[in-house]
Amino acid sequence: MSDRQASKIDPASGSEHVILPGATIGMVGGGQLGRMFAMAAARMGYRVGVFCGSSDEPAAEVAAFTVCGPLTDHSAIEAFAKRCDVITLEFENIPADTIAACSKHAPTYPDASVLAMAQDRWIEKTTLREAGIPVAGFEPVYDRESAIAAGESLGWPIIVKTCRSGYDGKGQHRLNSPDEAALVQWEGAESGDDGQPPWVAEALVLFEREASVIVARTLDQRVETFPVFENDHQNHILDETKLPANVSPELQLQAREIATRVAEHLGLVGLLCVELFVTPDELIVNEVAPRPHNSGHVTIEACATSQFEQHVRAICGLPLGDTSMVVPAASMLNLLGDIWEAAEARETLPNWGACLDTPGVALHLYGKHAARAGRKMGHLSAVGSDLADVSERLRLARERLLSDRG
Ligand code: ADP
Ligand code: MG
Repeated sequence: MSDRQASKIDPASGSEHVILPGATIGMVGGGQLGRMFAMAAARMGYRVGVFCGSSDEPAAEVAAFTVCGPLTDHSAIEAFAKRCDVITLEFENIPADTIAACSKHAPTYPDASVLAMAQDRWIEKTTLREAGIPVAGFEPVYDRESAIAAGESLGWPIIVKTCRSGYDGKGQHRLNSPDEAALVQWEGAESGDDGQPPWVAEALVLFEREASVIVARTLDQRVETFPVFENDHQNHILDETKLPANVSPELQLQAREIATRVAEHLGLVGLLCVELFVTPDELIVNEVAPRPHNSGHVTIEACATSQFEQHVRAICGLPLGDTSMVVPAASMLNLLGDIWEAAEARETLPNWGACLDTPGVALHLYGKHAARAGRKMGHLSAVGSDLADVSERLRLARERLLSDRG
């Protein structure tokens, strides 16, 4: 037995499901979620290998080793997976064949069935509804006529979304009336393998606020949820996550129960985020993502265990960490490429000095080389005793990125 294999077995429990520090974790995907995962895993003594498109992606730059190639390239998949004791991923749009090929070499979490659900909004919504999870009314859409029919049955306005490959509001349109259905280019959206519709129409939810819950689950069915996060979006992109959420204790408990139910229903191993709409008296699930989530970045500073460490613990079969807050209040503010573009228009760079001169503000940058409007380049977080003060400090720090250099 090689050292690598020996490290799979926990001497205390004798369980083969426990992957101990020193072992190698494979991460499929090279974005910022993979990067922060790799940093947390390295801190715990794991080696992280990243499989991604190119060696300058955010996660590749902090990994112990990288295998670069198209995610569908079977010789690259094999070269990567052979070196790993356990494999996970940082985004759900990885081809199912890649995950199946990885799992021939090492346990791979979450498994292909969870990904299939998360890759297609139609499958996702029908799966959640079947599990008794509250979701907004929805209808399949193929073309202009079926969009109009969906609006008539759900009530206008509706939100139509492509079922596959949408993120950060991409592929979504709000339609206020039948006339507006003519404005959408319906052709060309991809459908699922089993004849699922290319689009889904949803009833517009008049929410008070948006929230999310992250849940972790292990192979031996232990489950732990994080406190509820409150999320503010700008142009359909997450802008700020606040903790604690301004949501009643009853709804918070319900939100954590919903997340647990989703994880159990899917047989999840790993981490999953449930995005929720909070209306005055009920919670409605918007979507789920079986991986670390932007709204969970605040846990790095705010909670006893970060979402990234919890992901490591969950897939390695370790005890799940304490998710409680270690401070009374915390917040996270995204830094989008718009800031870089605005700085460039003034022939300068973001003013990092002024930003970091704001008391208690932590800077996280993902090492992305090209800034574009709407692209997530990094985030700021801060903790304190008062949420309004924490949030104000973060906004000041972000504004200062575009202040003149003194
Ligand atoms: P993405 O995959 O781009 O995150 P979401 O479905 O989460 O897509 O939509 C992004 C944002 O758009 C949501 O966080 C919410 O602010 C808004 N939104 C989406 N669907 C609805 C809906 N049915 N009713 C009201 N707002 C919605
Ligand atoms: Mg979303």
